[in-house]
Amino acid sequence: MVSVVRFERSVADSILSYSIHAYPKEGILLLRGKASKDEVLITDVLIPPLATHGRGFSGFSSFMLTMDLSVIGISHSHPSGALRPSIHDLNHFYGKLMVIAAYPYESYNNIGVFNSHGEKLPHEVVPDSPNSGT
Ligand SMILES: [Zn+2]
Repeated sequence: MVSVVRFERSVADSILSYSIHAYPKEGILLLRGKASKDEVLITDVLIPPLATHGRGFSGFSSFMLTMDLSVIGISHSHPSGALRPSIHDLNHFYGKLMVIAAYPYESYNNIGVFNSHGEKLPHEVVPDSPNSGT
């Protein structure tokens, strides 16, 4: 069970800026990182190979099943401002965690992390690691 999720600062900033860019549509990013038994460190975001702006989350996540296994979760934005997964989101959960960025995407408080049961996980933003590719 994941008990804490850490974002490298550049990752958290990318999630917010990508969400702003996608607004008023939903923006989707793939998350890569390192997972141990109870901690996750998210070190990279990737823009999905298929442009899915406005197509919604569900069509994308089925595609994800064939994707890179180093992807530990998906981030998507909620232009509605709801900082929680919908039932629909939970039915298409992928990986270890789901990240939701809620409008207005102004601060790290607009980012929420959830497990496959829709329970909120504690998260924090940490400095980028020195060897990070970003
Ligand atoms: Zn959603």
